[in-house]
Amino acid sequence: MPPDPPKLPNGLKMPDSNDRYCVDQATVDWLTQSLPHSHGDDDVYWSASGGLDEKRYVYIEGNNLASRFRTLGRPSFLIFELGFGFGLNFLLTAETWLRHARNGQILHYVSAERTPVAIEDLRHLFRQLPIQNADRLIQIYPAPIGGLHTIWFKPGICLHLYLGEARALLADQSLSNIDCIFLDGFSPAQNPDAWTPHLLCQLGDASRAGATLSTYSVAGRVRRNLEAAGFHIRRRSGFGQKNEMLTAILVSHQTANDRLAVAPSVAVVGGGLAGRQVVRSLARRGIQPTIFDNSAASLPMYALSPQVSLTVTLESRLSLIGTQFTNNHLPVQRVGLHRHMATERRDRIVSGLDPTVATSTPDGVLFINGGYLYETDVRDTDPCQERLLINARVTGVVEQNNGVVVTFLKHGARSKPTTTTFDHVYVAAPDQSLTPMTPVPLNLVWGQSAAITTDTDQSGPVVADGASIIPGPSGFLVSATYDRDRDARLGTRYEDTETLIAHFRRNYPNLSIRKIVPITGQRITTPDRVPIAGPSPDWPSLVDHCEEKRPTSLFHHYSDRIGLLTGFGSHGTALAPLLAEFLVARMMSEPPVLERKFETVLLPSRFQLRQVGRLRHHP
Ligand SMILES: Cc1cc2nc3c(=O)[nH]c(=O)nc-3n(C[C@H](O)[C@H](O)[C@H](O)COP(=O)(O)OP(=O)(O)OC[C@H]3O[C@@H](n4cnc5c(N)ncnc54)[C@H](O)[C@@H]3O)c2cc1C
Repeated sequence: MPPDPPKLPNGLKMPDSNDRYCVDQATVDWLTQSLPHSHGDDDVYWSASGGLDEKRYVYIEGNNLASRFRTLGRPSFLIFELGFGFGLNFLLTAETWLRHARNGQILHYVSAERTPVAIEDLRHLFRQLPIQNADRLIQIYPAPIGGLHTIWFKPGICLHLYLGEARALLADQSLSNIDCIFLDGFSPAQNPDAWTPHLLCQLGDASRAGATLSTYSVAGRVRRNLEAAGFHIRRRSGFGQKNEMLTAILVSHQTANDRLAVAPSVAVVGGGLAGRQVVRSLARRGIQPTIFDNSAASLPMYALSPQVSLTVTLESRLSLIGTQFTNNHLPVQRVGLHRHMATERRDRIVSGLDPTVATSTPDGVLFINGGYLYETDVRDTDPCQERLLINARVTGVVEQNNGVVVTFLKHGARSKPTTTTFDHVYVAAPDQSLTPMTPVPLNLVWGQSAAITTDTDQSGPVVADGASIIPGPSGFLVSATYDRDRDARLGTRYEDTETLIAHFRRNYPNLSIRKIVPITGQRITTPDRVPIAGPSPDWPSLVDHCEEKRPTSLFHHYSDRIGLLTGFGSHGTALAPLLAEFLVARMMSEPPVLERKFETVLLPSRFQLRQVGRLRHHP
């Protein structure tokens, strides 16, 4: 029996097990214009006669992917790759998928890369080597922040790129039902860690019967380890100068349950920033939910502002990865975000990050991926998708045998409450009168922003200096003040407007103000200031579990029909898109979007479990 993982201290403030944000990047020597060599591993990325043709031969043809995609009878296909390198296998697979798969099917491509290549090397290669969608790869290629990066590359193609050791990814994740494996790490002689019996057994265990595998290596230990992992191997003639390569098929392994079919009816309760991101994530999977919203007042713009602390914490890592996700999936105005900071703090923060993430300025740090979003762009989830939006207040979300019953009151209608049953319901409404949200401890924090019109327009980064000053097309939005005890119904407050004007004048002393419009709103926070994103627990069972003196098992009564998402405080733009994607993928039993260490700290049940000292395991 593996030992219990250690108890987690409160929230995401805990130091990360990784003491650095970024992983080392590969040092690439160019032997020819299109033949890269890794200095650290002393090996080439492909042979002198190869590149695209070699990858196509070994991995696309070696696994018969064109025909398998054409005849795929399931909603999705899962590939695991060891060694992302320059992404050639991924691009070739994407090209094959786009040509042969049917509309609505999804390719999940999970790839692990220990030392990612720098974006400049990627650009260099693709100038020499024309390949479909290379520009898209450059556009979404993540900064070298360690961990899992989930990116919807194209409709129907989801890349899960893990920057770190493959064995750490496999140990962390409960991957299952892999259809195909590409072993493309550096050679066993240079990089033995990528070919160990343990790692290949983990891959075998995570694969479905009939899964195929290919690799350029025919080393004896690779063959033996693959056979030990349950693969039947076959030698094929190799590409170019190479005599042989290996293909393999998993025959002995019986897979557990198949992935779930797409849920036919889904509702999202709450059409605010978070609810809209759930709608986006569902739309990527071809699902058009019914949205229930009771319509809240909103701001015209939101700053996108990564939060990075001096020590490496889960919270900062989540914020950095979340900011990247938002950049890749929403129309962010990428003007950067400049945070004022003392010199010593600035230097420490910048030294831990890559220059594509943050750079020093004389008085602070410029976060390159920061910027802002228009409210209209946040709400406009997908103009091509017809969705049903019900202007209504939901009064009940109750799971029954045949689904989840949603009870709602339509606005303006005097009629009695109406009920509809759905297969899945995502509650992104911070309404504690709704049963699945009632036991979640939420706090309301009132705040005020000011829309400031000036004589002249100003461009440049968002300035974070006590408040965020966002330079929009017709002036600025200065956001925001905080008051935990203020009643939202009391409206705007003179002192808060003055405070916001003072922030503005400090940064733009020469601009004269023509008009000021104060706007108020409420943030939702949790006691540990970490959002809620996870399946709804069965609350009565949780109470019983917490009252047990000696629990015989870990708590595992979670709904697979109701997901909860809320508590974003002031960080909705950096976190809600990623956590909505995480929640939807989790509820649909898809490959993971976040490492497991995040799952536990985001659980809606964590407060109750933490109180009795039982927040140890992932559900
Ligand atoms: C003044 C101010 C400035 C801010 N500035 C920024 C910023 O610059 N950048 C940033 O990232 N974040 C900012 N925030 C925070 C940001 O607004 C939140 O993080 C974000 O709105 C959270 O999204 P949400 O969907 O959880 O909640 P909301 O956006 O509040 O949406 C919740 C929705 O659920 C609906 N709802 C509630 N109950 C029910 C029910 N029973 N039935 C049906 N519908 C229901 C509500 O009507 C609402 O539409 C600011 C917040 C405030 C108050």
